[in-house]
Amino acid sequence: METRTPRGFHDVLPDEVRRWQFIEDNARRIFDLYGFSEIRIPVLEFTEVFARSLGTTTDIVEKEMYTFTDRDGSSITLRPEGTAGVVRAFVENSMHAKSPVSKLWYSGMMFRHERPQKGRYRGFYQIGAELLGPEDPASDADLIAMVWKFLESIGLSDRLTLEISSLGDQRCRPQYKEKLVAYFKPEADRLCPDCRRRLGTNPLRILDCKEEGCRKIAAGAPKMMDNLCGECAAHFGAVREYLGSAGVPYTINPKIVRGLDYYTRTVFEVTTNELGSQNAVAAGGRYDGLVEELGGPGTPAVGFATGMERLVLLHEKAHPGGFRREIKVFIAYVGEGTETAAFRLTAALRERGVPAEMEYGGKSLKSQLKRADKSGAVYTFIIGEDELSRGKVKLRRMETSSEEEVDIEAAPALSF
Ligand code: ATP
Ligand code: MG
Repeated sequence: METRTPRGFHDVLPDEVRRWQFIEDNARRIFDLYGFSEIRIPVLEFTEVFARSLGTTTDIVEKEMYTFTDRDGSSITLRPEGTAGVVRAFVENSMHAKSPVSKLWYSGMMFRHERPQKGRYRGFYQIGAELLGPEDPASDADLIAMVWKFLESIGLSDRLTLEISSLGDQRCRPQYKEKLVAYFKPEADRLCPDCRRRLGTNPLRILDCKEEGCRKIAAGAPKMMDNLCGECAAHFGAVREYLGSAGVPYTINPKIVRGLDYYTRTVFEVTTNELGSQNAVAAGGRYDGLVEELGGPGTPAVGFATGMERLVLLHEKAHPGGFRREIKVFIAYVGEGTETAAFRLTAALRERGVPAEMEYGGKSLKSQLKRADKSGAVYTFIIGEDELSRGKVKLRRMETSSEEEVDIEAAPALSF
């Protein structure tokens, strides 16, 4: 038997999980503040949900999905991202009919068969949010402002850069694609084989290629930002104005393309230069055609996702230490009949809301105190036969090793 995780998967151990919870708690709090409700969706969908949403010629769909045939012959895929599933749920549950605006957030594990590196896994956690209904640029800005507020709330915003751009829409993008093809065609021989293929299938993806040669050629390519139609340019201008008035610091990066086909108009990325090549911490954008693509009524939408592992890595760097679970009181005991008294005292402490932990099995007092110390306990009760017979218990202050006797009956009510 293999007693290890498959490559690219990892455990989050108890020592680290406090930091995860801190980040998750803040996400929940901030999303609540912005009027978003949590939605929980399955970790898998019919493969078609992702193929139709992400685009069949994207890296994820072409080579990163965990896909298998179910017992009934249907093709199932472990979710590589959250948006497609949320939109599927939006359509399936006719959410558009219940409210003109749906604000949903989710969190959970995503699966992509990538080459694992620090900050890049095959199983990783994302938190994301989707705002469905409005086309208004205020909704783009509101969502981006929320992302920034969340990153501020966990003390990371001063280490991050927010970049925005616009990818245009179905009116201006086709012309832009033609321009791209015209630009890349004479360079086709110098492109990687993937990009040579993309030239015919999805030329926008060439801009996203990680190959050095392709990146050099792509650097001089025409930019979507310079080719927006009037409506898209006006929309982008308004997003910028709202972001400015919300005090969100952003820069414009016309090179953002995003790895998925569903994006239209506003796109954004939050990056850091502290995590090597895994520099993307959060990303998102508008996807006005996706709901319809998945069989719902034409519904504009904008959303984002952030990678938990990268947030955690960055948070550890920015704020080392301080995330251990700490127990307030430890209960040690030595001698006949003391274990039952310890059990009762521990329960009484917890009843009063004091985090307490007892020894199991009664080793030597020395080893019990060692465990108490390790647990981070501020106080330790020591129950001995002699004290117990007098209705007393020793209270040891761990920092100073000073001890005093207190009434065992009154012990749970002490202020710790
Ligand atoms: P990258 O360019 O690093 O591959 P991406 O553009 O594929 O990122 P998205 O699909 O936008 O990423 O997902 C949103 C966020 O999820 C990313 O910004 C990143 O923080 C995180 N993420 C994406 N892929 C992984 C992965 N394999 N392991 C860990 N985190 C990931
Ligand atoms: Mg990727």
